Parts: sequence; structure tokens; C-alpha cells
Amino acid sequence: MQALVLTLVFAAALLLSLLIKFWLATRQMRHVAAHRNAVPAPFSETITLAAHQRAADYTLAKGRFGLLSMAFGAAVLLGWTLLGGITALNEVVRDAVQPRFGGMAYQLALLGCFALIGGLLDLPFELYSTFRIEQRFGFNRMTWKLFLADMLKGTLVGVLIGLPIAALILWIMGATGGLWWLWAWGAWMAFNLLILVLYPTVIAPLFNKFEPLSDEPLKVRVQALMMRCGFAAKGFFVMDGSKRSAHANAYFTGLGAAKRVVFFDTLLNKLSPGEVEAVLAHELGHFKHKHVLKRIASMFAISLAGLALLGWLSVQAWFYVGLGVRPSLGAPNDAIALLLFLLVAPVFGYFVSPLFAQLSRKHEFEADAYACKQASGSDLAAALLKLHEDNAATLTPDPLYVRFYYSHPPASERLAALLRARSPLQPA
Ligand SMILES: [Zn+2]
Repeated sequence: MQALVLTLVFAAALLLSLLIKFWLATRQMRHVAAHRNAVPAPFSETITLAAHQRAADYTLAKGRFGLLSMAFGAAVLLGWTLLGGITALNEVVRDAVQPRFGGMAYQLALLGCFALIGGLLDLPFELYSTFRIEQRFGFNRMTWKLFLADMLKGTLVGVLIGLPIAALILWIMGATGGLWWLWAWGAWMAFNLLILVLYPTVIAPLFNKFEPLSDEPLKVRVQALMMRCGFAAKGFFVMDGSKRSAHANAYFTGLGAAKRVVFFDTLLNKLSPGEVEAVLAHELGHFKHKHVLKRIASMFAISLAGLALLGWLSVQAWFYVGLGVRPSLGAPNDAIALLLFLLVAPVFGYFVSPLFAQLSRKHEFEADAYACKQASGSDLAAALLKLHEDNAATLTPDPLYVRFYYSHPPASERLAALLRARSPLQPA
């Protein structure tokens, strides 16, 4: 009975989320197509019609592709769950591995096979997106050789990092009793903090080259900005982002007040020194307002709630049966419980995702306001426009689509806020 209820609730949630996604995506595409032929008024002097239309075409191409991959993703999810994919995979792996190598090896093999199959199913979509869509709009700088090298390195890093943490969590689930989820949470948090430390110094350099910023005047300028804002720089680096993509970015890593600042080479090529400073000031604003800390804290809280829920679900037979999985009788079911939970939770999480998007947009406004105080607001506005144009982001998104998904406010709203912020000081 409970199993049937779960089946119905899951199927209904999946169907409803698909309908909403489809509705929003088609709204966005119609809206962008309808405004393709005219640059919106606030941008008519800075953005050419050709650039505007290129952005519209890029948005439409990505939107059509998004519909296809969305439908495929839902079919795969159904295949794994209600149509019996996990059960079939589990029986093959269990019977092959468990008798000879034991329960832990079997569970790790199950997770490994699942990840491998999932990766292979996603591969055609990744290839099409990189070598067709990004290529067509001139963003892709990736070669086949680099793509394969990335894939090999990514798999290796995934195995080296993923296998031990998976083994640890599975061991905790089997060995620590009813409160395993609390221990697992502790281990998961420690692991996340470790990755936070290791990523900039060990993992990122495997994929990109980092060179110290050699542009002295720019360095002096950004150093002064960081002093003003109360941060110590652990180093300024330029990353060869252009190796893979023409999209531009900048970021910070590091714990505490000492930050390692990383500029994509693509960013330095596109922006003037004043604009780079303003972009950096925006990023510093995220730290000053503790957005990063808040994000990490909420990630910790959500993980705790999720693991507590899984702690309860994993001992209910209807949790497995209701999602189309026959649990094993003579073997541990912890890996299956983890897999099922990771597959199904996002379906329900989708309905609360707009709340997080809204919070994120609020944070962006706060960071912009901070940047206006520490650097030039007009430089920030100019930088935003350039990055928008270079990334071929649409200037005419559907308002409802924005509310649901956008982690950053649309350019028109950000520029209007910047204009308001600086108008008392600089009469136009
Ligand atoms: Zn931001």
C-alpha cells in the first residue's frame, strides 16, 4: 500500500516537473524569438542588432537542445527506477562480485557500474553541446584530443576521490547502527572541506595552467582594491580558460581573509583594467556579505536533512519497492538506497529550486551595490554589458523563466540598479 502511494507520488512529481520545465522552456523560446528583431531600448546604443540576434539564436539553439536532453533524462530516470534498471544491474553485479569479493566490493562495483553507464548515456549530449552548439556560435576552443584527455583525467580523479569516500560512507552505513546518517554527515562535511582546500592547489592545476599575473599596473590596481576591502591576496593568477572556451570569468578560492584570485585569460583580453577591477570588487562583495559562507552553511544543513531522511527511508521496504527496486535479501542494500535517493531527490527538489534562485539574485544585487562603493559603477556596467554580449546571453528573457531559473538577475535589471546606485554622485 505505502509502496503504491510512493510510486504514484513519484510518477506525479516527475510528470508535473516535466510539464513545468517544458512550459517554461517554450515560453522562454517564444519570448526570445518574438524580440529577435529589435535591440531593447536601454541597449540600443551599446549592442548591435547582429549581436542581439546572435544571442537570440544561441538561446534558441540551447533551448531546443535542452528540451531534448530533458526528455531523455526523464526517460533514463524512469528506466532506472520504475522500469527495473537498478534491479537488473544490481542482480548482475551482486551475483558476479558478492560471492567472491564480499559485500563492500559488490556495493562499490554497483556504484561504479552505475556511474559508468550514466556517463556513457550523457556522452552524446556533451559531445553535441560542445562540438555542435558551442562550436557553431564560436565559443568552443576544445579539440578532440583535449576532450579525451579531460575525460580520462576526470574519470581518474573521480575514481581516486570518489571510491574512498563512497567506501567510507558505505562502511559507516553498515557499521555504526541507527544513527549512521549523523556519522555519514560528519564524514561528508569533512570531505567537502578537504576538497575546498585541495581544489585550487591540487585538482584545478591538473586541468589548467595557472601563471602569476604579469601585468604590473593591473596587479597594483587590484591589490589596492583588495586592501581597501580588507582582504589579503595569496596570489593573483591567470588561468588559460581560452584552452576550452571563449566564455570569460574570474573567481576566488581560499579560506579566511587570504584569497587566491584567478582571472581567466579570456576576461583580461576583453575588459579594460578598470572593468577588471569592478568585476573583482563584485566578487569581493560576495565575500563581504558572507554569501559564500551562507551558501556553504545551507549546503551543510540540506545535507543533514537529506541524510536524516535517507536514514529513515533506507529501512522501509516500501521505499525500494515503491521506486521499482527489488532489494537484496542476502546482501547489504546501502548502495541501492544511496543511488535511489540521489536519483529521486532532485525530482522533488525541483519544486523548491526557485527559492534558491531568488536568494541568489538578491545576493547578486548586493554584490553589485558593494562593487559600486569600492570601484566604479560605470566600469561595472560596461563590464557586464561586454560579458553579456560575449557570452551571447539574451537581453530579452521571459520574466517567468527568469523568476524560476536565473541565478543572476537579467542585464536590464542589474544595469538599472547600478544606474540608480550611482546617480546621486554622478549627475549624468
Ligand atoms: Zn556575483
